[in-house]
Amino acid sequence: MGQQIAEAEAAGADWIHVDVMDGNFVPNISFGQEMVAAARRSTQLPLDVHLMIVEPLKHLESFARAGATRISLHLEAVDSLSVAMQAVRKTGCACGVVINPGTPVEALYSDLDNLDYVLVMTVNPGFGGQEFMPETLPKVRALRTRIAECGSQVSIGVDGGINADTAPPAVAAGADLIVAGSSVYRDDQPVAAGMEQLRRAIIQ
Ligand code: ZN
Repeated sequence: MGQQIAEAEAAGADWIHVDVMDGNFVPNISFGQEMVAAARRSTQLPLDVHLMIVEPLKHLESFARAGATRISLHLEAVDSLSVAMQAVRKTGCACGVVINPGTPVEALYSDLDNLDYVLVMTVNPGFGGQEFMPETLPKVRALRTRIAECGSQVSIGVDGGINADTAPPAVAAGADLIVAGSSVYRDDQPVAAGMEQLRRAIIQ
């Protein structure tokens, strides 16, 4: 894992996005605090920890201690977003909220002032390598409009199925953070090639 992170860092990644899955909020189990700590030892880059877990508030402190720089949790996993965001802030990490494809973006509007970033899931969470869902892009567009209207600094990310074909429409819709997994970590080409293809697609 250290080697793979080093390749992304050398290729100019802005941070490392870590998908934490608990086998409960999503069917798969990925990894937890120990792997975040190992990632922390492997890179100076910010670690963007995406918690796909139930009761995320119980684990914020331990992920922060393990080395998270930014923590995002799912709107669907918390009772009160403002309480959750305050709890993330208390750890010293930047705070983000993630919404699943079926969750309306309007649910976030009253809490935009409490957030640093929103991740719009562009697949249903829980598995790598899924196909991008273009029907999620109107949410990105609506959120970009809303953020502009209220003069907020919140960033908008897209997470899931992002590659050189799907990144451009996501950016055109208003995304300014791109999370990529399978399109960068491939068997048939080095990490740097995947990142270069993504960057070139977005700049065009
Ligand atoms: Zn993620």
